[in-house]
Amino acid sequence: MARSIVVKGVESPERLLDETALFLHHVVTDLPAEKQPMLERLHSSDEDLMNQTVLLVDDDARNIFALSSVLERRGMNVLTATTGREAISILEQSQNEVSLVLMDIMMPEMDGYETINVIRKNPAFRRLPILALTAKAMKGDREKCLEAGASDCLAKPVNTEQLLSALRMWLHR
Ligand SMILES: [Mg+2]
Repeated sequence: MARSIVVKGVESPERLLDETALFLHHVVTDLPAEKQPMLERLHSSDEDLMNQTVLLVDDDARNIFALSSVLERRGMNVLTATTGREAISILEQSQNEVSLVLMDIMMPEMDGYETINVIRKNPAFRRLPILALTAKAMKGDREKCLEAGASDCLAKPVNTEQLLSALRMWLHR
């Protein structure tokens, strides 16, 4: 029943503070002075995003357009695919170029679950971060995404700040 997951890693303290502040409705400016820069760093740094290549997979051109512009504004290179098969062939042709995949789950023919499954079968992509995008209303989606091999799961419509903070976390080196 968790509403959010904080993945343990280098940015854990920042993410934890960020998520708890969000759910406890704390206003950032009311936080202790030493905590505020932590969140600012988390929210504003594009360092981890710059020049990284993302593969954006969505059957809806409007989503591709909206998300591409958000990501390109942060200095990211965006590759796009509108079907699972196209996504797989792009990944296979560009072995190490893609550093993260944003995967729509609801797609005709080959859905996101199946596509992730196929991608994970290739040992070269076992550790590739794949963030699944699911419709908010669907119960049990998160578990299904993680089971299929997704690294994380974001609800649609995608909240830009949440998306960027997930990207920073998964692309942090
Ligand atoms: Mg879709």
